[in-house]
Order: sequence, then C-alpha cells, then structure tokens
Amino acid sequence: MQLRFQPYALHFIHPFGVSGNTRTSTISVFVEIGDGDVKGYGEACLPPYLGETEAATVAFLHAARPLIHSASSGANFTELLLRIDQLQQGCNAAKAALDMALNDLAAKQKGVPLRRYKALPEVASKPTSFTIGIDTEEVVVQKIKASADFQILKIKAGTGHDKELISLIRKHTNQPLYVDVNQGWTNKHMALEMMQWMADKNVVLVEQPMPKEQLADMRWLTQHSPLPTFADESVKRLSDLEQLDGAFNGINIKLMKCTGVNEALKMIQYCRNHHLQVFLGCMAESTCGTSAMAQLMGLADYIDLDAPQLYKNDPFTGLAYAHGKIHLGQGAGTGATPLPGLFGNL
Ligand code: MG
Repeated sequence: MQLRFQPYALHFIHPFGVSGNTRTSTISVFVEIGDGDVKGYGEACLPPYLGETEAATVAFLHAARPLIHSASSGANFTELLLRIDQLQQGCNAAKAALDMALNDLAAKQKGVPLRRYKALPEVASKPTSFTIGIDTEEVVVQKIKASADFQILKIKAGTGHDKELISLIRKHTNQPLYVDVNQGWTNKHMALEMMQWMADKNVVLVEQPMPKEQLADMRWLTQHSPLPTFADESVKRLSDLEQLDGAFNGINIKLMKCTGVNEALKMIQYCRNHHLQVFLGCMAESTCGTSAMAQLMGLADYIDLDAPQLYKNDPFTGLAYAHGKIHLGQGAGTGATPLPGLFGNL
C-alpha cells in the first residue's frame, strides 16, 4: 500500500470582519493511503491549542510509512493501527489521520459507507451546534443573526463575563445553548452558582467548567449541578476515562485527541457501560476529518461538528449542511472526496 501526505493551510471565512487577535488560517496535514485504485483519506488538524506541530506530524507520518508500505492488500488494519500507535507516544492527530484513511479505505474496498462497515446505527441527519466564539458585543449579535438556521448554539465562556454574554444572547434568541467554559471557573461554589443561574436560560449542557487538575471539585460540582457536565480537556484517550469516575455526566470525544475512529468507538462503548453521555466534537477539521466523525453520529447524544463551515478553501467535498443539520450521503467510506490535485505535487 502507498502513503502520501500534504500539509495545507485552511483559510477562515470572516463574514463579520477580522478582529486583532483572530487567526486567519490553520494547518491540516492531509493523508492518502492507496491500495491499487482504491484510496482512503484522513486529516491531522493542528490548531495551536492542540500542541502538535506540523513538523512533528510529518515526522511521525514518515516513521509510519514503512509499516503502511509493507502492509499487504486486505491486511488487518486494526492490527496495523495498533502497531502505528506503538511507534511513539503522542502525535494523536497524525495517528487519527492514518486511522481515518485506513478506515475509509477498508469501507471503500467493501463498497459501503464507514458507518455500515462498522455496523453502526444509521442516522441520515442530526442537528449540530454552531459555535459563537468570544468576541465584541457587536460581532456576537451579528453571529447570532447569521446562525438562525442552526437549532443549537455553542458558546465559549469562562471569561469572567459569562452572565453578560448569555444575557446578550437571550435578548436575540432562545436557541438552546451548549456552554463551553474551557476550564475557566476555578472556584466550585462560584461554578455551581453560575450553573444554577444558567439552568433556566435554556442551557443544555456545560463543558469543562473547571480546570482538569481540580478533579475532586469537579466531582462535587457534578453531584450538585442542575445541568449535565461534560469533560473535554480532562480526557484525550480511552485510558483517561477511568480516573474521571463520577466527575462528569458525559464526555466530549474528538478524533484529534483520541487517535481516530477505532479508539472513539471504544470510548463510546465505555461511556455506554458507565452511564456517560456521548458528545462528538471536533477541533477545526475540514470536510475530510469531520466526515469521518459524522459517520459515528448515530451513536451520539450530542454533536458539535460545524468546523467545515469555517473555511473558504476546504479541499474536500461530501458533507451537506442544511437547516442546522448534518446530512450523510450514501457514498462509500467516510464520503469525503478531495479536490483534484491535492496530493498531485508529491
Ligand atoms: Mg471544549
């Protein structure tokens, strides 16, 4: 089998103007694994907050290349992915890209969508939230108006001005809110007071209210909170879940954190066995990475997969958004197809 990859700058759409500290682009490394005429695609999305660099990602892909090149057609990709994972610690985004590409390839070789290849529940469409980042009051209002098509909003909180932001949003819309605090509340009593205040503001869930180090405080908060709590920064992989016992009501699973579809499915199974809700999220993946995660949406309680809406030069097609929902096609694999020439220069 053959491995090719291509670093690529994804440029953000800025319909509301670019504020001073806003990034204008982000880097993804796209991966193609070919077995004869059949090709599978994956993405390592590398926003700065993930802490994984383009250089380290490319180096990992070079290191994984001999394993992929020596794999025979029809090989056991689950075994191959375990060997790739053991090459070194970390590089979870690069591992996720290879996992997606091999799963895409395997499903295409069977001629079925990835969800059918993995025997997952069929869901044709599902509402996704639309994220409204921290910004000026004027821009927040513009974003609320622009997101009227979406049935759920996700907001970034934890800035010290959370009540002002939610009150502002509630002046303009009563859409349900997912509130992502990004570890921003450090006092458990203040955190509980905030969650009690939010409980009658049509807030559905609160993500990572407290720093990941404050696990005992998180247990107390989840026990007393009127709203469900979800872990994000507190968990990357399956091996992180056991220590969180009782600290959250659910888990935000992202392919870039957990090394890909195979491990995400194990984490979902763990959640089902431990009465944890499942939230499928993303970093800032294009249609390539988001399509892979969207194949799992039949297993999710909530999804936040709006990232492809952020880009003006998405190099993949295949995912449809309409009326605030993701609609899956019937294409084989993840359903994502690269624009011609994306891998042509290598
Ligand atoms: Mg988060």
